[in-house]
Amino acid sequence: MALIESEAIVLRTYPLREADLLVTLFTRVAGKVKGVARSAKKSKRRFGGALEPLTYVRAFYDVRERQELVRLDACEVLESPLASEVGYARAVALAHVAELLDELLPDHEANDAVFRLTLSVLRMLTGDEIWMPVTYFDLWLTRLVGFLPELTECVACGRALNGSRAYFHALADGLMCVDDKRLASSEISSESRALAAHMFRAPVESFGGADWPRSQGADLRKMLIQILQRHIEKKLVTAGMMEKIGRV
Ligand SMILES: [Zn+2]
Repeated sequence: MALIESEAIVLRTYPLREADLLVTLFTRVAGKVKGVARSAKKSKRRFGGALEPLTYVRAFYDVRERQELVRLDACEVLESPLASEVGYARAVALAHVAELLDELLPDHEANDAVFRLTLSVLRMLTGDEIWMPVTYFDLWLTRLVGFLPELTECVACGRALNGSRAYFHALADGLMCVDDKRLASSEISSESRALAAHMFRAPVESFGGADWPRSQGADLRKMLIQILQRHIEKKLVTAGMMEKIGRV
């Protein structure tokens, strides 16, 4: 039995038996880890608010040989999403971040770039201005897990797309030029492609979250969600929830 200490981000909790919680953590040292927090529902002393999804914690857990689940011993809160008000849009955005990490990260594989991305985006997700941090997170995560296609040339003919129209399709990888686009393709504007290029060169803090309407980068987000859903072969629950935000 080995006691591990690691920074971690809480992704999900599920009730388990009478008083325990099953917790999915994204740990810095070992990637995604599932564990049992004994008596977490009864005893506030050891865990307090530390098991709320998207809480950044210092976790202490035991790993036992030949056991899939670790035993979560204690969690100290480093940063809590509950430190600022959780309105509906923000709640959905936080759930979206948690869902993507849970669906896309393999178990037991550390990924420091994704860990740092998540922390920096969570620090920008403190109000109901969600569209910039969500766009930044979806874009970078898609690239860091290796699913982002080349955005500057047509996947069919290789022609450069800079400045010209570009299309994507739910069932195909890559962007297509106007001559190669398939039926039922969607267009991604050159503004959104330029935005993506800019986001790859600059930290999330350099983009203002306010005055960022839902429409900005909406085609880019739609493309990213399609790419991710195609790779995980299922619909993201939070994608549908986000589509309803801001629609009257
Ligand atoms: Zn083409």
